[in-house]
Amino acid sequence: MKSINPHSGELIRAYDPQDDAEVKRLLAEADAVSREWRKSGFADRAQLMKRAGGVLRERKQELAALMADEMGKVLRDGEAEVEKCAGCCDYYADNAQRFLANEPVESDAEDSYIAYDPLGAVLAVMPWNFPFWQVFRFAAPALMAGNVGVLKHASNVSGCALAIQDIFEAAGFPRHAFTTLLAGSASIEGVIRNPAIKAVTLTGSSPAGRSVAGIAGSELKKAVLELGGSDAYLVLDDADLEMAVDVCVKSRLINAGQSCIAAKRFIVAKSLLPAFEQGFVERFKRIRAGDPHDPQSDIGPMARADLRDEVHRQVRDSIGQGARLLCGGEVPGGAGAYYPATVLSGVRPGMTAFDEEIFGPVAAIIEAADEEQAIALANQSPFGLGAALFTRDKARADRIARRIEAGSVFVNAFVKSDVRLPFGGVKQSGFGRELSWFGIREFVNVKTMYHA
Ligand code: NAP
Repeated sequence: MKSINPHSGELIRAYDPQDDAEVKRLLAEADAVSREWRKSGFADRAQLMKRAGGVLRERKQELAALMADEMGKVLRDGEAEVEKCAGCCDYYADNAQRFLANEPVESDAEDSYIAYDPLGAVLAVMPWNFPFWQVFRFAAPALMAGNVGVLKHASNVSGCALAIQDIFEAAGFPRHAFTTLLAGSASIEGVIRNPAIKAVTLTGSSPAGRSVAGIAGSELKKAVLELGGSDAYLVLDDADLEMAVDVCVKSRLINAGQSCIAAKRFIVAKSLLPAFEQGFVERFKRIRAGDPHDPQSDIGPMARADLRDEVHRQVRDSIGQGARLLCGGEVPGGAGAYYPATVLSGVRPGMTAFDEEIFGPVAAIIEAADEEQAIALANQSPFGLGAALFTRDKARADRIARRIEAGSVFVNAFVKSDVRLPFGGVKQSGFGRELSWFGIREFVNVKTMYHA
């Protein structure tokens, strides 16, 4: 398991994966701790979770540098990610008890209510793109609910994975309340099948989700899946064009284009198309890609050279299928997994840039003749994670949003996760929700209590 600096291409460190016996030992420890941890009270858990937030804030710069080195995130974005994780710890420390309080229900019982009990050890299979945020948005609610967390992180961010375990230990959580496994994806089947693991969450690609949920299903263990997306941004004929272009450009380039909820397909009203293309290309040409440690860099390299090569293949295929290249599209010479901010226009269904998720700084612009066609194009995707609409008419936005097949629709803004709002998708973007009270209730036993 190698951490390779995507800016320089140099090996940072190779980690030996744990062998089966060690993995089994760690799972047994997690199981044992879960039996004690579930008895702890909300006040004690909250105190530790607040401390975890404090440790994150104290280590913010160091953790941002670790992300820059392992996966190429620019420092200011890494610092913002760590802050967001700390906010998530605070949020669940403050609200978990309320979210999981007993709920009285009138029935024919003398007294009946719903109680939320923990499940035990929950496995989290996580991606490298937001190596701290993806994990904390699982771990903070899971631990506050009285579960324990077992992390299998992406193989290129083992330094981040170990740092997260260390943060929980430094905050004072019992050892193995949060455990990082150093394991490749091939050994995950045995982990899911281990009786210590009660449920699984995976954030990553659809193939990984299908595999993990399939194994969990065969064991009758619950799974939550946060998978890929090809979010459509609908720029309607009454949009504020300058604002729409600004927001679309920003969203497409989040994390050098490597975000599940980055804008990927721009479906633009025919009347606005020339101005949209021009504004988009002008802004993309100004983007500075460079060393993630350099404050002048807008975006860093992509996380790995093989991922960059895959994005380039998708761009070349789309051009071969008839898409027009407006800027970018060439792999730069020199070291590093860099890819330029690239704009494709004239994209249509049947082209790679329309049908597949492009996980890099590549925009696909699609023309829509009218509102009906815009909605149909937005929904003509195997994914259903997020979507955005640009219009000055709120009633129109509400009406269209309800017809969009996605887990969230943002109006005149880009899709983002907010700890107070549920996050997740439909179709091949997965099932289940993270964040808000929905997230903390995914991994609990919803227990009916009945007093005759
Ligand atoms: P990935 O290849 O699916 O990897 C994600 C995690 O799954 C890694 O820990 C990986 O381990 C593991 N994995 C891969 N194949 C597996 C398998 N067959 N069985 C068990 N585990 C497996 O995804 P990625 O390239 O890291 O991330 C990009 C994808 O994640 C995109 O599709 C993106 O949209 C999606 N994503 C979704 C969300 C969301 O919230 N919906 C958020 C972020 C990213 P190894 O590293 O060891 O292979």
